[in-house]
Amino acid sequence: MNSESVAIIGGGAAGFFCAIQLAEMRPDLSITIFEQQKKVLAKVEISGGGRCNCTNSFRDVTDLGQVYPRGSKLLKKLFKQFGPRDAFKWFENHGVPLTIQEDQCVFPEAQDSHAIINCFLSEAQRLGIRIKLGSKVDDIEQLFNGGYDYVVVTVGGLAKSNASILGSSNANPSEGGNAGSLFSIHPSITERVPSLFTFNIKDKALTELMGTVVENAIASIPGTKFRSQAPLLITHWGMSGPAILKLSSHAALYLAERNYQSSLLINWTGETNADAVRTHIIYIIEKNSQKLIDNIHPFNLQSRLWLYLLQKAQLQGKRCGDIGKKGINKITDLLTNDSYQISSRSHYKDEFVTCGGVALDSVNRLTLESVHHPNLFFAGEVLDIDGVTGGFNFQAAWTTAYAVAKGIADR
Ligand SMILES: Cc1cc2nc3c(=O)[nH]c(=O)nc-3n(C[C@H](O)[C@H](O)[C@H](O)COP(=O)(O)OP(=O)(O)OC[C@H]3O[C@@H](n4cnc5c(N)ncnc54)[C@H](O)[C@@H]3O)c2cc1C
Repeated sequence: MNSESVAIIGGGAAGFFCAIQLAEMRPDLSITIFEQQKKVLAKVEISGGGRCNCTNSFRDVTDLGQVYPRGSKLLKKLFKQFGPRDAFKWFENHGVPLTIQEDQCVFPEAQDSHAIINCFLSEAQRLGIRIKLGSKVDDIEQLFNGGYDYVVVTVGGLAKSNASILGSSNANPSEGGNAGSLFSIHPSITERVPSLFTFNIKDKALTELMGTVVENAIASIPGTKFRSQAPLLITHWGMSGPAILKLSSHAALYLAERNYQSSLLINWTGETNADAVRTHIIYIIEKNSQKLIDNIHPFNLQSRLWLYLLQKAQLQGKRCGDIGKKGINKITDLLTNDSYQISSRSHYKDEFVTCGGVALDSVNRLTLESVHHPNLFFAGEVLDIDGVTGGFNFQAAWTTAYAVAKGIADR
């Protein structure tokens, strides 16, 4: 090889974006993507239900820690190099017009992930990036020994198929690492566990309410700071919806340590002040003293859910006027502190991202180069960075891929 050469391990979102950025910055470099599968960008294709929620406007994000339970500080710094607006512009300038939904999620205007895949494939071809399909890399040293000047690891998150390159099934330090594996040359990999999952709850009366949506619920884990406020969906296996997914993300490590068994508290009202809830209940009970309590629906709760809560409080069928102070307290408590037991985790449409990975204190904070091994870089989900749903994970992939490309290009 005459020119300097770069090997990128993984033909996913981060691998392609890094290759394209690097080729645009440094056309003199020879860039090869190694992809173990017969097909590249498989996750981009299925992402966002086939539409690819490729970033977010970030309009409603006041603190990056809300949407990146891990990695927010590093991303705050890296967004100065290449942030959501840069990603938005990049796609539009490369023939992929985007649209911002009301919930601030950003999708290709075509509503089809192939708009992004086609863009990446044609850019890669135009820029002369080599793509080696069916090329699984297990030994990183071999790439350096084979003449590559730089190696970028973009192998994504938890998957059996990338355990060998990382060095062990879960990069557990006590298991050591295969020779040449990432772990053997970069031993700073934190435990990797799933994030973004839903909760299984064994409660027949609850799961019979499947399909019920509560627009503004607060889900929390008692005795911890883990809490999230968003819409909640009752399913036939337990609970799902943005409130639960966010909670699972923030509490990913905590729940993994407890084998996904934990108490859960639900506030069905979205109102954090229990006294305000009690005052509202007293008001509507006084106003409807002759009516059956079954027929009032505080906080716009669906009638099925309200009846379920009344049943729990043993108040179903009573007249409002007969509820009394004790009954009001019971209702207030159930509305604001309804307790459940999570029995296990389940997948949200088979979607999860990985919490954990290459430790952020083991990489250069501008270029994401390994502090253990020169010329070895990381981008995408292999890093200990992950976000909640809403396009935040792809944004992390674009940003970290750009940082690596710039780091190599500036050499
Ligand atoms: C079903 C689903 C839907 C999702 N939807 C969204 C969404 O809409 N918006 C969003 O922001 N995020 C979404 N995500 C998360 C998002 O897809 C990931 O965060 C993102 O793909 C990470 O990019 P990556 O390049 O780091 O990893 P990946 O996209 O996982 O790419 C890694 C690549 O490396 C290859 N590889 C692994 N090991 C080796 C090896 N040893 N040798 C060679 N190649 C290897 C893999 O085959 C793969 O192609 C979704 C995830 C899933 C599972």
